[in-house]
Amino acid sequence: MSEVHKIIMVGSGGVGKSAITLQFMYAEFVKDYEPTKADSYRKTNFDLDGAEIGIDILDTAGQEDYAAIRDNYYRSGDGFFCVFSLLEKMTFQETDNFRDQILRVHEDESVPFILVGNKCDLTEERVVSKADAESKAKSWNVPYLETSAKTKQNVDEAYKALLRLIIAKKNKE
Ligand code: GDP
Ligand code: MG
Repeated sequence: MSEVHKIIMVGSGGVGKSAITLQFMYAEFVKDYEPTKADSYRKTNFDLDGAEIGIDILDTAGQEDYAAIRDNYYRSGDGFFCVFSLLEKMTFQETDNFRDQILRVHEDESVPFILVGNKCDLTEERVVSKADAESKAKSWNVPYLETSAKTKQNVDEAYKALLRLIIAKKNKE
């Protein structure tokens, strides 16, 4: 059996965590996924750069009221897919809190992590600039990508970028 890598989806409510996950899993845009629902998914035999891997994705709902539950989720993760909405400044600022909480659990600045600005299809409504997002990602030393869960733009690429970080990290250990 191929090795399974565990990805945790984090980010404020409504940014598109579920829509991105479902695009990656089933190649469809699910518009009204229950906002309070957390769920997990598995992909087997995924081809990453010619190697077959397994992927577990935990799509969190932000309803993890008890810090202990949230920290258990975070502890179980190999890598973090941190999403904000390009249409909402607040969700961009809130990525700081997710990053802090993850680093508190993992105590390792090099924990595999990707910053993702979603809803890039809605260009007219965009309020977070690429420069601001890139500068935050640079200060964290993590990759940054812009996605659309609606058109699937960069969705597979974002997961692949994170998986490469996860595998590189495991190979070092
Ligand atoms: P979550 O709370 O982070 O899981 O967010 P959801 O995946 O439930 O998405 C919240 C809302 O934003 C839903 O109505 C989605 O249809 C919509 N949405 C999510 N991603 C995109 C996107 O990339 N483009 C557009 N136009 N809408 C999106
Ligand atoms: Mg959701």
